[in-house]
Amino acid sequence: MSIKENLIEIRNNIPKNVSLIAVSKTKPISDILEAYNAGQKAFGENKIQEMTQKYEELPKDIEWHMIGHLQSNKVKYMASFVHLIHGVDSFKTLKEINKQALKHNRIINCLLQLKIAKEETKFGLSINNTEEILNSEEFKNLLNINIIGVMGMASFVDDENIIRNEFKTLKKHFNKLEKYSTTNFNPSTISMGMSGDYKIAIEEGSTMVRVGSAIFGSRNYK
Ligand SMILES: *Cc1c(COP(=O)(O)O)cnc(C)c1O
Repeated sequence: MSIKENLIEIRNNIPKNVSLIAVSKTKPISDILEAYNAGQKAFGENKIQEMTQKYEELPKDIEWHMIGHLQSNKVKYMASFVHLIHGVDSFKTLKEINKQALKHNRIINCLLQLKIAKEETKFGLSINNTEEILNSEEFKNLLNINIIGVMGMASFVDDENIIRNEFKTLKKHFNKLEKYSTTNFNPSTISMGMSGDYKIAIEEGSTMVRVGSAIFGSRNYK
């Protein structure tokens, strides 16, 4: 099936209140344009340099989502244009995003990445860490960021129950965090679900899915 047909099928599978981020990492500009011409405006990348290059070459009404693990020293390259940063997993990175957003006179939307998978290799904050950050005075003064929710990745396993339980955990954490309310914390979004598990994620409360290979075909690397 073509990129356009894949997009139509996926859109038919997800409710209206769930946003679809087309994960275009490693894919060429021509593929992104094909999706764009089929009405897709939100794209996700996991490498800052690749995202910046694509941003420069593609239409300016595309929303760019940084979904990969972040190194603070690279935040500056995307601070002028990034739409939403999904993978924020440290206070240090939040402070750096705030600093770079201030330079560009912007407020940058972020999600806090929580670790829900058991796998050692997965990044993310614990719920305790997250609450510590939200409770701190220093956090409340970061007025150039706006945290709009949480992001998580389930384990790469075949067992649907494990995946479902990890998504349930993220939803539970999200509900717990909803009681926090500061100028820069306005939780509405749960970013969970990829090509292999977005249907389960939506059943468990996802409001944003990040789908790559089911739209663009499989990747050889990364
Ligand atoms: C690559 C990636 C995706 C998309 O993966 P697919 O399985 O191709 O849909 C989603 N989220 C993150 C964080 C990714 O790195």
